[in-house]
Amino acid sequence: MFNSIVIHYGEIGIKGKNRDFFEKKLIENLRFALKKLVKKVYRRYGRIICDLPKKPKYKKIEEILKNFPGIEYFAFSIKTELSLEKIKKVSLKLLKKQKFESFKVESKRSYKEFPLNSLELNKILGEYIIKKLKKKVDVKNPEIILFVEICEKESFLYTKKIKGIGGLPTSTSGKIISLLSGGIDSPVASFLLMKRGAQIIFVHFYNPNFNKPKDLKKIEKIVKKLTKFQLRSKLYLIPVEKIQKELVKKIPQAYRMILFRRFIIQIANQIAKKENAKALVTGDSLAQVASQTLENIYSIHSSSIFPILTPLIGLNKQEIIEIAKKIGTYEISIIPYKEVCPIISSSHPITKSKIEDVINLENKIDKKEKLIEDCLKRTKIKFFEI
Ligand code: ATP
Ligand code: MG
Repeated sequence: MFNSIVIHYGEIGIKGKNRDFFEKKLIENLRFALKKLVKKVYRRYGRIICDLPKKPKYKKIEEILKNFPGIEYFAFSIKTELSLEKIKKVSLKLLKKQKFESFKVESKRSYKEFPLNSLELNKILGEYIIKKLKKKVDVKNPEIILFVEICEKESFLYTKKIKGIGGLPTSTSGKIISLLSGGIDSPVASFLLMKRGAQIIFVHFYNPNFNKPKDLKKIEKIVKKLTKFQLRSKLYLIPVEKIQKELVKKIPQAYRMILFRRFIIQIANQIAKKENAKALVTGDSLAQVASQTLENIYSIHSSSIFPILTPLIGLNKQEIIEIAKKIGTYEISIIPYKEVCPIISSSHPITKSKIEDVINLENKIDKKEKLIEDCLKRTKIKFFEI
């Protein structure tokens, strides 16, 4: 029945001079994601329209648009000519298929030359539907709302708005390097920044002597899941067994985790430079575990040149889990896997490290740069697409 989709984007509509840039990017992203599913994507008065083929794959399209950064809501709609007669006819066609007793009409006239204003149109259509379908109007609590949008060249009618995730279109805020573990938190942190228009590049550190191929498969699964929020992803898989070996040799157990974290952050900084990214993101949440006391966050994060964003810093575990479930990463994250760190973790990690001590310890490791370079050399990169 439907021949089009109406897409509304809240936030980008108010971005002043940048509006054009954001709209174009959203259209470009939609064209890429829906290339096999719609015929045409174009702009109409502060909304985006997609023309549907004869037999649309509704489920597939809905799944994509529901998770698309930058979309407030969308609706499968019937596009018709800009004439009252046509609009009346389509209203009946749309409503006849549905069960309801009470209704109301909500028109939006974006094209001001149309001879009826929205109130007049609501009234005329309302009376017409009452007469033809024998239903009653309920303005406060209708069972169904008929939405009518009047644009310059055509009108769009629909009854069901589907909520999107909002935010900003992918690739409008620059690149960020995400330190992705196999846990629950870092995928959620990555998602929150994707929603803000960042292109996330994933980096995962593993120990080839401990981690099995299935551990890396799990990481890839998480990246695949997250790719639906940003169209394309890149994953760096970085072996760190040589660094860990050095840490075991030279560093007291209580400090190993902190030094290891400083190492992986420095490696991520190198990748940020190479990728022209401007920040890193981690899943840190204040005081959730020993490495996340304020003292330790300071000791670890101060090894970074680029700012480290921590969107989960003030969230409770339960709040993080709820988002993970919503975005579909939770089920993958809870699959058991080997942490990268068994040999460097400690049952009594230091919780209030002092930066001077940490730096002194780090200086005990000679050829630091060489170790980092070696990791980077043996890195594997994988690509993903929506
Ligand atoms: P997560 O649930 O994301 O694993 P966590 O609460 O378990 O987080 P930690 O394991 O202390 O906390 O890790 C803190 C952050 O460090 C992670 O959120 C992630 O960003 C980063 N990190 C930890 N291990 C790795 C790894 N092997 N590869 C990449 N990043 C990692
Ligand atoms: Mg973890």
